Amino acid sequence: MTQVAILNAGGQQVLGFVTLRHAIGMLYRQVARVHEAVPGETFGPYPVPRSVELVRYLYTKWIYEATGKLPYSREGVLRRDRRLCGYCGRSADTVDHILPRSKGGKTSWVNCVAACWPCNNRKADNTPTQAGMVLLVKPRVPTLQEIGPSLRRRK
Ligand SMILES: [Zn+2]
Repeated sequence: MTQVAILNAGGQQVLGFVTLRHAIGMLYRQVARVHEAVPGETFGPYPVPRSVELVRYLYTKWIYEATGKLPYSREGVLRRDRRLCGYCGRSADTVDHILPRSKGGKTSWVNCVAACWPCNNRKADNTPTQAGMVLLVKPRVPTLQEIGPSLRRRK
């Protein structure tokens, strides 16, 4: 039976191998997408995959289950903060490093917060205190459920 490689989101790392049938099931459930296909071969509506790439959420889940740690992601910060700016509460689509990277701040769950563009721009390369801004939230490591795909809550 043909084995199909499962790759991480991004496709740089082989996480394991599954049967072709299992891989097609993953495509059908939209938990993975084709990374590399066998040219000219199809399985129903799908190209026959040589390798599939997990969608980012499942990669996160995979790492979490293997290591107990939730890998940082920008999208995860926005989801944790419900896309609301940590400084003014308005709608946010950027992520701010509370202690700026230039001052040794890490890209981590506790040093990053959702921020609207005007606040992010105003704060620039300063700490909140230096910028005269108040952080309204206390950033923390989210749960897997908080950053999970909001559209897949159907049972
Ligand atoms: Zn703001």
